[in-house]
Amino acid sequence: MRIQPLLALLANSAWSAAAAPATESAHRAAGLRLIKTAPEDPGKWVTEEGKITDYTAKGIGFVDITDITDAQVLASLSTPDSDGNSLQISAQATVIYPTSVSHQTETNALLANISATNPKTWLKTLTDFHNRYYKSTYGTQAGTWLFNTVKSVAAANSAITVTQVTHSFNQPSIIAKVPGTSTNIVIVSAHYDSTGGSSTARGPGADDNGSGVVVILEALRVLASAGFKPKDTLEFHFYAGEEGGLLGSQAVFANYKSTGKKVLAVVNQDMAGYSPSGKISIYTDYVDSALTAYTRVVATAYVGATTSDTCGYGCSDHASARSNGFPAAYVCDEQMDTSTLYIHSPNDSYATIMWDAVLRHARFTLAFLVEASYL
Ligand SMILES: [Zn+2]
Repeated sequence: MRIQPLLALLANSAWSAAAAPATESAHRAAGLRLIKTAPEDPGKWVTEEGKITDYTAKGIGFVDITDITDAQVLASLSTPDSDGNSLQISAQATVIYPTSVSHQTETNALLANISATNPKTWLKTLTDFHNRYYKSTYGTQAGTWLFNTVKSVAAANSAITVTQVTHSFNQPSIIAKVPGTSTNIVIVSAHYDSTGGSSTARGPGADDNGSGVVVILEALRVLASAGFKPKDTLEFHFYAGEEGGLLGSQAVFANYKSTGKKVLAVVNQDMAGYSPSGKISIYTDYVDSALTAYTRVVATAYVGATTSDTCGYGCSDHASARSNGFPAAYVCDEQMDTSTLYIHSPNDSYATIMWDAVLRHARFTLAFLVEASYL
């Protein structure tokens, strides 16, 4: 998901009716979903199809809060982000991040193994599903394929585990874990569901977000093949249902919060394959400002100059990490104004992908994982 902040603002200002508690059970019984498009938005009940056709397809970001019961998380989602670092609930102690990179020799040796060969094959398969809509049969089939592919990539190192996280909808999220000597966790993430603008439309989802999926999968391939043994535990998260309002990531981080997991960093990538500027863009709203600064340090050291932008409420899965109290950053292929025009349509195709961008993000991801594994 990516949104246009101005559109979201306009949409929100037109709403005056709060969700009426007296009818909530009726809305739930009717299968409606409660969504928010801004911190101040009290919420609106909409249909599953309406989420996609009236919001996602129109570039309006939202969070589906129907299943969120944690009052701290709901409070976080209802607090405006004025400075890129507001209301971070204290799930854990603050992390101090380095101001420079310090493992260049080890990182550069691993970076030499990054290649576009496997990402091209993987992205072709991902984009050949009619769509990867999270409630469709295709979306479930894409999940099965991805689970098997992640397991196959991880098999190079028997210490790596790959699990599926089941949700209230059929499409699972998938997590690969490279155990460290510490149980502290460093996470890279990407959603794998897609939409072409409705539940049934063709939705190849090449840039959004097959590109992010193959980027973190290539980083996993290189680390697994090298038998990399990190200090911190490394996790690769492939989320379901992002286009439905950050559903998979919400469930994963609600579980991590309730089980007291210590997460040092979450770096989310949503769109990594279309970049006319040739520069990675590191976004600055609804993120942890300290982790964002560290992310920029690592990106600048290993892949060159970066740009910045903001993408508003419900932009992507980093918002779920953040609202559950975990430090999160968002790394994208381009600034909003010059990003691909094809997302959430049948035209977000394999043919539009710029492979230099995919390789840049794969190198960044691998470098971040190696450097941050020493946090
Ligand atoms: Zn999207």
